[in-house]
Amino acid sequence: MDASDWQPTACILCECNCGLEVRLGGEGGRHLVRTRGDRRHPVSRGYACEKAHRLDFYQHGRDRVLAPLRRRADGSFETLDWPTAIREVAERLARVRDTHGGASIFYYGGGGQANHLPGAYATATRAALGSRYRSNALAQEKTGEMWVSHRMFGASTRADFEHCDVALFLGKNPWHSHSIPRARVTLKELARDPGRTLVVVDPRRSETAELADIHLQVRPGGDAWLLAALGAVLVREDLVAHDFLRAHATGLEPVLAALRAVDIAAACERAGLDEALVRRTAGVLGRARALASFEDLGVQMGPNSTLVSYLHRLLIALTGSFGKPGSHFVPTTLVPFTGGAGKGKSPVAGATLVGGLVPCNVLAEEILCDHPARYRAMIVEAANPAHSLADSARLRAALASLDTLVVIDVALTETARLADYVLPAATQLEKAEASFFNFEFPRNAFHLRPRLLPPPEGPLSEAEIHARLGAALGAVDEATLAPLREAASRGRAAYAEAFMTRVMPDPRLMSQASTILYRTLGPTLPEPLREGAVLYGLALRAASKHGASLARAGFGGTPLEAAGALFDALLARPSGVVFAVDEWSQCFERIGTPDGRIHLDLPDLLETLGALCASPAEVRDAAFPFVLSAGERRSFTANTILRDPGWRLADAAGALRLSPADAAALGVETGGRVRLTTRRGSAVVTVEVSGTMQPGHVSLPNGLGLHYPTDAGEATTGVAPNELTAVEDRDPFVGTPWHKHVPARLEPVAPGEA
Ligand code: SF4
Repeated sequence: MDASDWQPTACILCECNCGLEVRLGGEGGRHLVRTRGDRRHPVSRGYACEKAHRLDFYQHGRDRVLAPLRRRADGSFETLDWPTAIREVAERLARVRDTHGGASIFYYGGGGQANHLPGAYATATRAALGSRYRSNALAQEKTGEMWVSHRMFGASTRADFEHCDVALFLGKNPWHSHSIPRARVTLKELARDPGRTLVVVDPRRSETAELADIHLQVRPGGDAWLLAALGAVLVREDLVAHDFLRAHATGLEPVLAALRAVDIAAACERAGLDEALVRRTAGVLGRARALASFEDLGVQMGPNSTLVSYLHRLLIALTGSFGKPGSHFVPTTLVPFTGGAGKGKSPVAGATLVGGLVPCNVLAEEILCDHPARYRAMIVEAANPAHSLADSARLRAALASLDTLVVIDVALTETARLADYVLPAATQLEKAEASFFNFEFPRNAFHLRPRLLPPPEGPLSEAEIHARLGAALGAVDEATLAPLREAASRGRAAYAEAFMTRVMPDPRLMSQASTILYRTLGPTLPEPLREGAVLYGLALRAASKHGASLARAGFGGTPLEAAGALFDALLARPSGVVFAVDEWSQCFERIGTPDGRIHLDLPDLLETLGALCASPAEVRDAAFPFVLSAGERRSFTANTILRDPGWRLADAAGALRLSPADAAALGVETGGRVRLTTRRGSAVVTVEVSGTMQPGHVSLPNGLGLHYPTDAGEATTGVAPNELTAVEDRDPFVGTPWHKHVPARLEPVAPGEA
């Protein structure tokens, strides 16, 4: 086998984006016939899980869109040529802008896992239209954590699990949902080492919980009580890092008072946990040399989620678990992909925007109303909100009521089916692409992956689509581009000077910087890397903001020299580049609060903690006695870019998991069926009886219920979780949905019942 047969790329199925090497073959040489982890990738270092090996199912989906589509009056689609599609889309959106204002044009998406360049190019189209409001999946999941983190630390933090002696996972099963580099290797190392302790908080005995030293099998929805109890024990037993707090934090006293007031026994009772085990766990956390922790959707999509994020961060601060190896850090970022400040409100519901994102759960109500500021048009790019947001039926009605819905995507998704126009995009293997989720420390890496395959006739990269839309909207003209192109032909230094003198001083042109870079610098790049042109602007920003970190990684000199060297390295190293090397002390410089200290006292959340502890015992609706966790990550679930059900080697139907006791009470066995009913919907589901579930708790996987073409027509495999969820069930602070805590009931299905 020739080593040159293997070509570098990345897995696109979770935020780790492990480096891969693939061999192409099969019909037309367009199939991924072999896949392996790429040892040269600076973060994953050869690691890849089982999901990466069947990416050919993504590349060769049967529902690929190969030409621009326009909806006819009868609801069917007709194909268009690109010039007509671009002209009509630009005209329709410009008409909405001119009639109702640009703020009435909503932008959703911008890229999935490892597919973040579309969002960078879309900024130009959004600016040309004056589109102000946007959202994406982060506002389904992470905005509570972002909001709390920015109020306390003025930054988002991550954790170093490789060097910790205590690891804590809250509502997180990294065995299947990953999020940390080389997750299974790291988990096994933690589990094997008697000097280290792995703590897992999960209502289910997950694969990670199986490896844990301490599994706190919390009652579903009981996480806030557990964290309140852990914090209270830390305070009562004085396991608080006083020196650290004196040096780096402010607002300790109100926090100590609030935690002292927690009734530990009652909180453990509400969490469904043995008090002695909770006390022992608090001791382990409080005495850790280095504690690393991670909260994820298990707690972020459940009741009290923002309070949980706050209590989690108090735990980090009270134990001094920040700014030292094995604890929490603030990484250097090449791309400032989001902030966490709660600035601004959505125009109709008045919902808080965190990181500039409208909570997904208010989207339908901000369309289905007669408010003058309602959204009238929408661009959806590399996202499938009709499937992934709560109460799909209501969102479908909202999308259908828009003046104009434009979808830019690879496949005819559930959202694309509702569109007025579908603009077909190249797959992630048919263009240069990158992930902006670069969260490593102290050595942080960025991976610009070259295109592996030319796109077939029809689809275009998002960079090209946005450049064409910008031209049609009159945002950029040839007179602007020509001198920059000419400068680019004279070399990088001439181009940099032209860009800095012609584009950077002009806010209108700066709003189009991404597509200007693509149209002028892009043509000088090797064709498989053209969409990477926007990274030159981002490298310039990083060089001026993080010069010392870039210099330690070998990109020194003036900001211009450093940016040029980094950009060249990104182009030249197809397995990724270490672009920043940090020092742990820099974490404290990156605390972004006005006084540079960690702010412990968030009065609104301390008040919520007080109310939580004073609340009466949980009352469940007798009509819905079960708690459904909708959207569990399993061995063969991923985001919905993998639409072909054939990719799953296990759990083909996406079974509902339930405990043996519940199965016995219902008289059902694995492979049997039950009717699952929530306040919003009902579905007949296949059952998997699992000892990992506690009685009263059932779970459905994510990513199922997609409509997919078959030889016999079309099939839908499994249940789309959001046919069962309600937008009203959401966090009161940031609007994140409670998908992990859906009240439900189960009933036996009579033989033959559909
Ligand atoms: S699914 Fe995640 S952990 Fe697995 S190979 Fe892909 S990127 Fe890596």
